[in-house]
Amino acid sequence: MGIKENVKAILAELPEGVLLVAASKTRTPEEILEAIEAGVKIIGENYVQEAEEKIAKIKNQIAKLNVQWHFIGKLQKNKVKRIVKFVDMIETVDSIELAEEIDKRCAALDKIMPVLVEINSGKEPQKAGVFPEEAEKLIREIAKHPNIRVEGLMTMGPMFGNPEEARPYFVETRKIFDKIRCFDIPNVEMKYLSMGMTNSYQVAIEERANIVRIGTKIFGERNHG
Ligand SMILES: *Cc1c(COP(=O)(O)O)cnc(C)c1O
Repeated sequence: MGIKENVKAILAELPEGVLLVAASKTRTPEEILEAIEAGVKIIGENYVQEAEEKIAKIKNQIAKLNVQWHFIGKLQKNKVKRIVKFVDMIETVDSIELAEEIDKRCAALDKIMPVLVEINSGKEPQKAGVFPEEAEKLIREIAKHPNIRVEGLMTMGPMFGNPEEARPYFVETRKIFDKIRCFDIPNVEMKYLSMGMTNSYQVAIEERANIVRIGTKIFGERNHG
């Protein structure tokens, strides 16, 4: 099947209220355009330079289509200034230093950046994300900054062959989501739970994900990256 058919099949399958992010790292501008023409509304990119170059190539074609860009990769502080100019959401905030930089750069642009806090639900030391037990403290700190707005949580979870093995990590993240929502912290709205990729998105949705980030199932296997 081609990209268009893949997108249509996924969109038909997703329950109402679940947003599809097309995870487009390593894909060409033409491939991304095809996904957009089939109905994708949100593109997720992992690398700043790659995103800038690809957006530049298709921005005329998508000008009227209301496409949003989410940053879903590891964000370095020194790239924040560039990214805040063109993304609609940063899904991977996991430190106060990064949040402060986003706040500062967005203040200069008179912009408020929606972000998700990334949870390292598998507590894998080498992986991005804040540990579950530190999430509340981080979110309360971020909430003090006026030009950044926490709108939910994101998690990758450990990678397994069997998606059922990812379920406990999605459950853990959803519990943090529910807990933070009950606190009713000013400037924090627990609205989005971004969990699940090609092999795990159905399980993630069962555990109440309302953003799924799908690459392979849309575009086919990646050669690299
Ligand atoms: C690549 C990527 C995805 C999508 O992975 P697939 O297995 O290709 O669906 C989702 N989230 C993040 C953060 C990614 O980097």
